[in-house]
Amino acid sequence: MASYTPMIQQYLTVKADYQDAFLFFRLGDFYEMFFEDAIKASQELEITLTSRDGGAEERIPMCGVPYHSAANYIEQLISKGYKVAICEQIEDPKQSKGVVKREVVQVITPGTVMDGKGLMEKENNYIVSVTAFEDQTFGLAYNDISTGESKVTLLSNNLEEVLNEIAVLGAKEVVVASDFDGEWQKKMRERNVLVISYEDQSSIDRKFSHLLEDLNQDKLKQTAARLFHYLYRSQKRSLDHLQPVSTYQIHQFMKIDYYSKRNLELTETIRTKGKKGSLLWLLDETKTAMGGRMLKQWIDRPLIDREKIEQRHHFVELLMNYYFERQELREKLKEVYDLERLAGRVAFGNVNARDLVQLKQSLLQVPYLKQILQSIGSEEMNRLIERLDPCEEVTDLLERAIVDNPPLSLKEGNIIRDGYHAQLDQYRDASRNGKTWIAQLEREEREKTGIKSLKVGYNRVFGYYIEVTKANLHLLEEGRYERKQTLTNAERFITPELKEKEALILQAEEKIGELEYELFTEIRETVKEYIPRLQALAKTVSELDVLQCFAQVSEERRYVKPKFSSERRVVIKDGRHPVVEKVLNAQEYVPNDCFMDSDREVLLITGPNMSGKSTYMRQIALTAILAQIGCFVPATEAVLPIFDQVFTRIGAADDLISGQSTFMVEMLEAKNAIANATQNSLILFDEIGRGTSTYDGMALAQAIIEYIHNRIGAKTLFSTHYHELTVLEKELAQLKNIHVSAVEHNGKVVFLHKIKEGPADKSYGIHVAQLAELPSELIERANEILTTLEQSTVSDTQRNENAAIPTEKVEQPEQLSFFDTPVEPIKSELSDKEKKVLDKMKGLDL
Ligand code: ADP
Repeated sequence: MASYTPMIQQYLTVKADYQDAFLFFRLGDFYEMFFEDAIKASQELEITLTSRDGGAEERIPMCGVPYHSAANYIEQLISKGYKVAICEQIEDPKQSKGVVKREVVQVITPGTVMDGKGLMEKENNYIVSVTAFEDQTFGLAYNDISTGESKVTLLSNNLEEVLNEIAVLGAKEVVVASDFDGEWQKKMRERNVLVISYEDQSSIDRKFSHLLEDLNQDKLKQTAARLFHYLYRSQKRSLDHLQPVSTYQIHQFMKIDYYSKRNLELTETIRTKGKKGSLLWLLDETKTAMGGRMLKQWIDRPLIDREKIEQRHHFVELLMNYYFERQELREKLKEVYDLERLAGRVAFGNVNARDLVQLKQSLLQVPYLKQILQSIGSEEMNRLIERLDPCEEVTDLLERAIVDNPPLSLKEGNIIRDGYHAQLDQYRDASRNGKTWIAQLEREEREKTGIKSLKVGYNRVFGYYIEVTKANLHLLEEGRYERKQTLTNAERFITPELKEKEALILQAEEKIGELEYELFTEIRETVKEYIPRLQALAKTVSELDVLQCFAQVSEERRYVKPKFSSERRVVIKDGRHPVVEKVLNAQEYVPNDCFMDSDREVLLITGPNMSGKSTYMRQIALTAILAQIGCFVPATEAVLPIFDQVFTRIGAADDLISGQSTFMVEMLEAKNAIANATQNSLILFDEIGRGTSTYDGMALAQAIIEYIHNRIGAKTLFSTHYHELTVLEKELAQLKNIHVSAVEHNGKVVFLHKIKEGPADKSYGIHVAQLAELPSELIERANEILTTLEQSTVSDTQRNENAAIPTEKVEQPEQLSFFDTPVEPIKSELSDKEKKVLDKMKGLDL
């Protein structure tokens, strides 16, 4: 260390405290990185790696990014899961002796992004902390630093539950104690957590104790405290916008596990992982960013409290009935900026004048919103109107203080309105007078000298000057002008009077800049005091936005208000899959009914592939979810129970990340449902048991159905291609067969997508293959094989009469059984050439 230059020594001292972050070390107009940081950053950011002499024998690797474009680079690193510690010069280099003092002023991490592209407008950016307690329970707290919202809950000792919450929140960063279980950390990373951070402090600190006042248990306080310690330690500033932490319990909401959420494509589709095609995409008619975020929160956590749900329905109905008012409301909401994040930036101290103008414009909409809602009128509506606080003091202040179109920069003036501050007005007068004087000077000089082309100009180096072309120089009075600069065709001069005025103007402008900045800071501090009110307003506006969005979609798509049944009855008339219906566009979506009650707990759905079984099942689940988030539902009539949980096992959601086989995932999901479902749950099983051999699969499917039917009694939709299972209807009293019909027309299958009572009579697999245009020769051959098979096995009817499980083993080309011992791979002789290639490959470090 001693051999390094003092600056590098300083760097190393700072770096020692920020081992897990890139240290952006401010050197003049650049942030520089050294040593390992430099090597890694140059690769990640694709910037040039150089080196510098640091006093030691070897040169030190170095790379840097310009200060003014650092934000972009920081974002790139953050999105890759890194942290960036910003180390600034904290004293004026001109006034310091020796090395300038430097300090880390903020650590930016994936979970603590305040602004920029790293923040999605309509998505929260949550950071989560998890605390393991000795009694095997877990505390989980989350916060969105851009909005200041925090919540905390206790969970049982169930890794899946913790992971599920992390996944629901989409947390990019999780904060735990440094001795937290390593296996669990690994699992978190598998659920898309970009970075795990460590914080060992969980005591209550004065800085944030007021935020914990509503929490009544030590465990909750500790969990939230760990998160706040981390936030304060990394952000290193006052976080005045943090809202008091509230508790929540996961059983206050409809539980939908991570896999089911994915399967049902609630907020993103399985294939593209994008929003388009998801329920969120279909519903998103919100007009504000805050509303967009709240919509996602509501979809992620459907309610189970009937009163609360019905209250939302009530608002949706009102807004639906008042078409013109709703359109007006939407227009006004469009003018409302992201109040929540603006408030956050006010507190953070990185708000600019344009942000404050946006804040003002947003607040100015509030009286209009109130007016529109008043014309609708209802008791509940009036209560909502009361919560719309226009924060007039803030609007007044901003209207008086800030010009309509301020510049981005805070240091160049032109922010504060004339008339707001007497001293500022005086400086401005001085500056304006000076400028008028100079404009006059040009006229006077032209007259005096007779030079028409004479002009007065300004540049940064020489200030104001008088410019005369070379041809006219002889017209100037000797001795009155001092030569300052010679150009090819002209000379530039100054006069003592000109310099005097110039000094006055520049002085005034400097003072204007300083004073405006000072005034702006004052205004910002005043606005800061209103943050809790702004946040409360933001919440009400978001709610209103989501409710109007539900009304809009419900009207456009002809949804109806669902009723709730306390007898666990499902009656859906002409139900539709909301997303498929929208995507099908001109093509007709075939509506289907669904009827379930205490005599019909389990529906066994048969029908050919591609006929619409899984669409039907999803549509039931989505209808229930829509109802419980407070929206209307795609049907002409709907009566539903309030479901406590939804479980699904539907098609191709293979869990590639954790490297489990499709069949294993299938079994895990079945287990999850069976272990947790209650009578009040909804279970959707699509083709369970398909991933293994026919008999294994069928046996498992039957056993699962029996178990659910006899032990759980949850409302269950079970689709299968095992026609043998349809005989279960005889043995299981609450199981009913339904099927999706198809007709054969000229040897081709035509799907009607219509759900009917009773079992399907035929599987149309080969017809589907034909539809997919497999070669006709192949199709003929398949038909041939099928005929042979049908002749050599017990007939369908016989089999149905016998039992679900045929006693004889039929000759049938089987899929590999999951339970069989693995088949030895085929060994064939390798040629010399092949052996060589193999040997070479073995030697490679792949
Ligand atoms: P299955 O699960 O029986 O194999 P799917 O549910 O995947 O079939 O449906 C296959 C296709 O049929 C879907 O992609 C959808 O476009 C269409 N479909 C399904 N149900 C309907 C319906 N009720 N009306 C119109 N088209 C439908």
